[in-house]
Amino acid sequence: MAARRRDPHLQQKIQSVFTEIDRTLKCMAAAGCRGFDCSAESLETLSRWQKPLAAAAETLETIRQNLGECQRCPLAGRRQHIVFGAGAAHARLVFVGEGPGREEDRQGTPFVGAAGQLLTKIIAAIKLRREDVYICNIIKCRPPGNRNPAPEEIEACFPFLKRQLAVIQPEFICALGTFAAQVLLNTSTPISRLRGSFHMYQGIKVLPTYHPAYLLRNPEKKRAVWEDMQLLMQAMGTATDA
Ligand code: URA
Repeated sequence: MAARRRDPHLQQKIQSVFTEIDRTLKCMAAAGCRGFDCSAESLETLSRWQKPLAAAAETLETIRQNLGECQRCPLAGRRQHIVFGAGAAHARLVFVGEGPGREEDRQGTPFVGAAGQLLTKIIAAIKLRREDVYICNIIKCRPPGNRNPAPEEIEACFPFLKRQLAVIQPEFICALGTFAAQVLLNTSTPISRLRGSFHMYQGIKVLPTYHPAYLLRNPEKKRAVWEDMQLLMQAMGTATDA
């Protein structure tokens, strides 16, 4: 039988867990504690206390590392690049699109194709630059032929976006198009009814608006998007007449 190889990294980790248990038990004993409360309530309290600490320890870089060369859904097989997201790590405003297109897949950067150029103009119209905001998508790999992402693709990918948003802690999200708005807000309400007002995602104000790619096909909807952007500027306190 082949001898099991020792992983020094794992051994170190186990050692540090034992050291931590030892230190904690001694500390509790010194405080007069003689037993444990393993009730569901205590475990629930513990996990509630841990969440903000775990979130605080995370950064966009650690999330990217954790994503790795992701193989969690079939889109991995056809992609050129994972499109993680780009922009300010603590942006007040995050734009969330649907998923990378051909150009984004080629470059590994969100919204760099034709729709991206229009998004850049929309961002300039609200007196910001791309580097002032964070830009990302519900899914990080290009679906073939730009079809809508499948439920299992969203299930695999959306948790990473949730973690990115928890780290960035923006005040505002602008959800671009039906798909982003419906996934973020967990609704099937059409974009035509969602746009024009703010909704909430995890304490963050979400303004859905039409997707720039849709605007390229339906330029008459630009007025509605401009109205949405004015709402956004008023809420952000950046409207010139605010
Ligand atoms: N459309 C999107 O939804 N996202 C991109 O990154 C590019 C086009």
